[in-house]
Amino acid sequence: AFPQPYKLDARRCISYLTIEHKGPIPIEFRTAMGNRIYGCDDCLAVCPWNKFAAVTAEMAFHPRPELKGPLLSELAALDDAGFRQVFTASPVKRIGRDRFVRNVMIAIGNSQDPSLLPAVLERLDDADEMVRGAAVWAFSQLAPDAARADGAARLDAESHPDVGAEWQFILG
Ligand code: SF4
Repeated sequence: AFPQPYKLDARRCISYLTIEHKGPIPIEFRTAMGNRIYGCDDCLAVCPWNKFAAVTAEMAFHPRPELKGPLLSELAALDDAGFRQVFTASPVKRIGRDRFVRNVMIAIGNSQDPSLLPAVLERLDDADEMVRGAAVWAFSQLAPDAARADGAARLDAESHPDVGAEWQFILG
């Protein structure tokens, strides 16, 4: 996100992409996102000034115990009501279920964990095209041969151009 010293291109920032960006995540940034599903802030972690920062005593800023190390498979299965319930009173709620599950699909695609494939396959038929598109990419990362084998039929059945483009990309 820093094309040169002291210049930040917010369009390349993982915090921007995972929180503010509304459409599909551009392909060039997906691998770099790793397992970040809401924000990044690595730049704050390495900022020299922050060596003076102290851990706050304000409990509202501490992670909630039930959200420490959440399972991607469970986050991927959240519907709108479930998402609202899990993230009530959390800033995560602001981005909405669809954008959040889109991010989870990218993280699963980067996981190299084939046990997460069922969580991806369930999202290939998601009602939201952004989630479906991210699921296509995750499918191609975890099981590229199976994704290519399914691609033509899936492409025929897909009505949204963004998701169709994802299938076309993996079909080559
Ligand atoms: S370290 Fe993360 S939050 Fe900071 S500018 Fe880079 S991508 Fe954005």
